[in-house]
Amino acid sequence: MDHKLRQALDSAVTARRDALVALTQDLVRIPTLNPPGLNYREICDLLAARLQARGFVVEMIRAEGAPADSDAHPRWNLVARHEGAASGDCVHFNGHHDVVEVGHGWSVDPFGAEVKSGRVYGRGACDMKGGIAAAVIAAEAFIETCPDYAGAIEISATADEESGGYGGVAYLAERGWFDPARVQHVIIPEPLNKDRICLGHRGVWWAEIETHGRIAHGSMPFLGDCAVRHMGAVLAEMEQTLFPLLAGKRTEMPVVPDGARASTLNINAIHGGAPEQPPDYTGLPAPCVPDRCRITIDRRFLVEEDLAEVKREVTALMERVKDRRPSFTYEIRDLFEVKPTMTDRDAPVVRTVAGAIEKVLGRMPDYVVSPGTYDQKHIDRIGKLKNCIAYGPGILDLAHQPDEWVGIDDMVDSARVMALSLGELLLP
Ligand SMILES: [Zn+2]
Repeated sequence: MDHKLRQALDSAVTARRDALVALTQDLVRIPTLNPPGLNYREICDLLAARLQARGFVVEMIRAEGAPADSDAHPRWNLVARHEGAASGDCVHFNGHHDVVEVGHGWSVDPFGAEVKSGRVYGRGACDMKGGIAAAVIAAEAFIETCPDYAGAIEISATADEESGGYGGVAYLAERGWFDPARVQHVIIPEPLNKDRICLGHRGVWWAEIETHGRIAHGSMPFLGDCAVRHMGAVLAEMEQTLFPLLAGKRTEMPVVPDGARASTLNINAIHGGAPEQPPDYTGLPAPCVPDRCRITIDRRFLVEEDLAEVKREVTALMERVKDRRPSFTYEIRDLFEVKPTMTDRDAPVVRTVAGAIEKVLGRMPDYVVSPGTYDQKHIDRIGKLKNCIAYGPGILDLAHQPDEWVGIDDMVDSARVMALSLGELLLP
């Protein structure tokens, strides 16, 4: 691309600064909370109207039969496609439109989309409505500046990323939307910062571990067998052997933050004995020896690790505890697993976006890997499309936090990078 054209493209983006802010605000003001999955149709309608007016062909796809899809909370997705003047590659921007619960501790209206000190505030501003808006603005600026481009641009807004993506990208990928024959480059504008390219993510294994005992009267615990004490022994064994083992495993993947370069395990929940009563219950609990105790574990593993080995570590730990506690039995139930994924640094979309970051920001990008997964897993595993990265504005640490915000300058800069990347990929 020659210098003059690059300048024109860049000006077309920067001239849209106010439009970018306004679009981000419009998106944030639609509370697409997940769960349960609110207003998905509304946010798709908003983007559909906008993109249709700019020559995109829009398809609305409801993920019927996907987990959590219902008539009360339908899982709506949008795919918009703009065809160039000649055949060529298709560049696809994919953003999830759902947001997580608000939580406590906000000083602004979470759905007010207030602008102050150069930032747009609100739930989803950073993760990832600011990113969707940046991609839309980049595409609009590019199409206006270079109407005779070769290839196609797609923009999708998809459901349920925050709950696994099964009503969103996974559903679309299973139906061929990310077939490498129709899409060649994917950019997911998750909030990884304007100067970083995210190549992929660590793996995940969620499981439920249950210890089994025997119920009895709480005044005579010797007549029962306390499942919570067994679980206590399991947790103690984790502290002594598993956590140190995991902390010692370091990856070559450039995971950020640095703490996530090791293998990690979180205990997401623990439940044992009588269920907790609602807060308005005024009675006392009944005295019983708990016969069941469950934890949910969230194990994040590295590209160097094998999932079967990851599971074996936990089974071996349970067996060690069992050796010392003869009455104890247990069960491990798999809940969810995702293998690590990492796009090659030499992949075309990586090289192109890296070059664009260098030109726009005047510095080399950092290459990072995300500690948690995102929709790239479905594009890779189901869609078989390897040429995929996450690149977008916003600071990852702010995601899911109170007073979430996205910087306006950052959105503009990343839109400039995206527009320039379109130029490199779609102009002869
Ligand atoms: Zn996200």
